[in-house]
Amino acid sequence: MIRIITDFDGPIIDVSERYYRVYQFCLNKIRRPQQKVRQLSRTEFWQMKRSRVSEKQIAIISGLDEVQAQEFSLLRHQTVHTEPYFHYDRLAFGAVDALLKIQHAGWDLAVMTMRRVWELDFAFKKFDLGRFFPENRCYCLSNDYLKTRDIDDKPLLMARALKELPPATDTWMIGDTEADIVAAKKHGVKAIAVECGIRERSQLELYQPDFIVTNLTAAVDLILEKSAAPVELVYR
Ligand SMILES: [Mg+2]
Repeated sequence: MIRIITDFDGPIIDVSERYYRVYQFCLNKIRRPQQKVRQLSRTEFWQMKRSRVSEKQIAIISGLDEVQAQEFSLLRHQTVHTEPYFHYDRLAFGAVDALLKIQHAGWDLAVMTMRRVWELDFAFKKFDLGRFFPENRCYCLSNDYLKTRDIDDKPLLMARALKELPPATDTWMIGDTEADIVAAKKHGVKAIAVECGIRERSQLELYQPDFIVTNLTAAVDLILEKSAAPVELVYR
């Protein structure tokens, strides 16, 4: 049996609009009334996120001073996972078709995300995604979990999943950040990084995933190709 463990934000959900709205909100909230700031365009902002420019640095580039940048970073952290902003999330291109393809192939599918239970449920309801992920295939954080860093938390979730899930012959992890790649590699799971999320290709390459592809659809096609039964040569 083939098992796919997929990250949520990135492969399935496009969070760029939410992140940008939060950026705009924080910049306007932290700036002094007469202070000149330079609001980044949506494209500029997202490119910085994809190349891992820190929140503090983004604040400074936008015209805030050092102290304000700290406040900006804190406010951003407190705001980005609040209900009003989750409304800005969108489905990633082709995500539902790719999930249907996985279902059709009969593969075991689980989701592994740093979202909290309510945050995952919110998107499941909004985009009708719950049908793909039964409760025992959802690995996320409890509502009261104290997050540390994704790159530390995600391997813990992966360890739990591999212990609890029935054995599979082949397990693939699909995700859009270093946390996904590290979680997979730490546990001997094949890692496919997708470029449709919050990291650009050169950032993903640093962590040496097994493959880098454009999006979830391409990842599914790759697994289909790799898991196809070898053609038997018949000599007569
Ligand atoms: Mg992600």
